Amino acid sequence: MAQLIRTHDKALRTRAEKVVPSGMWGHLHAAKLPGNYPQFFSRGEAGRIWDVDGNEYIDFMCSWGPNLVGHKNPEVEEAAERQRLMGDCLNGPGEVMVELAERLVDMVGHADWALFQKNGTDATTTCVTIARAATGKRKILVAKGAYHGAVPWCSPSLVGVTAEDRAHLLYYTFNDVESLEAAVKAAGDDLAGIIVSAFRHDFSFDQEMPTPEFARAARRIADAASAPLIIDEVRAGFRLHVAGSWEPLGVRPDLSAWSKAIANGYALSAVTGRDWLRKAASEIYATGSFWAGAVPMAAAVATLKIVERDSVPERIAYLGQLLRDGLETRSRQFGLSIRQTGPAQMPTVLFDDDADFAKGTAFCDAALANGVYFHPKHNMFLCSGHTEADIEQALAASEHGFAAAARAT
Ligand code: PMP
Repeated sequence: MAQLIRTHDKALRTRAEKVVPSGMWGHLHAAKLPGNYPQFFSRGEAGRIWDVDGNEYIDFMCSWGPNLVGHKNPEVEEAAERQRLMGDCLNGPGEVMVELAERLVDMVGHADWALFQKNGTDATTTCVTIARAATGKRKILVAKGAYHGAVPWCSPSLVGVTAEDRAHLLYYTFNDVESLEAAVKAAGDDLAGIIVSAFRHDFSFDQEMPTPEFARAARRIADAASAPLIIDEVRAGFRLHVAGSWEPLGVRPDLSAWSKAIANGYALSAVTGRDWLRKAASEIYATGSFWAGAVPMAAAVATLKIVERDSVPERIAYLGQLLRDGLETRSRQFGLSIRQTGPAQMPTVLFDDDADFAKGTAFCDAALANGVYFHPKHNMFLCSGHTEADIEQALAASEHGFAAAARAT
């Protein structure tokens, strides 16, 4: 197996541990990844990234979602640079905010208006606030195990969170209509909204697309209660469908939260909504010092133009399927059984008989040593910066991964 050099990464970790609590926060802590994974990166280009020691990888995490049309995409960079020369953080938004809102209203099936923030958590939290403002009710239905962000109402950790922060959440199981109906019943006449991920992409589990029955039931229940159906598009948005991930199901939400890929890596999130929520959206107090930043908005306009023009969801579905087919063939050649779930654009690969993820970890570590950055437990991401040659190279490297996984058996 190739040996990766990690001298600079190690030195940075030592320095970071002294000045950043535990060296890094949250999901980006390298301790949560297989042993040889780098913590620090220096640059990215198209579908590739380089760590601070100069090791190059074909990247299947795409910055955990934001990289959709390739790192340093020339059209996005040009639009961002043009705006940067005029100004980013001014006394108010630039003209580009209106242009971006118009584009979202044109593109997104349910959208009559748009609001902008910075992080996905800002957008999901704003959706919940709008739902409560519009209905005057309190209960929000949330799928068990779903991730909607990192503030007290939705954080997956209870450290520093009070019971009161969660007092008005009720839980259902994704794709389980009965459990949704039971949660609605428990809400009584206090239902403010239902929040649901575009698909079930829970960490370390097989992924699940929404069934048409479930999507229709969610719509029906929300209508019956006059409470908004909120789709959390933060992770899946613009990878599955340009008009919204549930468009192929014929079910439209009342509110959606978007972020990650919307500006190809520039910090931006958005809430889109239907007309009947316009008043509530204008009455809540949601703002931030950087929410009107013009550079990410210019990047978003350019990104969304590319997504539509180049049919990016279809392109990355094709590339993801090439990867998926190649991994399936090779896993069998090595006598291993894998489960590949979720949409091809956002694949999750888990090994059978691998409760402790030893096979998945060995697979990823060996692929990494051969120039491919996979993830053993989280859904991965394709981008339109990837090429067929990248997929071929990644599949060749995956053979080292499968050999290592077979040894870990
Ligand atoms: N919702 C979903 C589905 C997400 O995947 C994420 C981020 N992983 C969030 C919300 C929160 O977004 P952010 O990290 O930008 O606050």
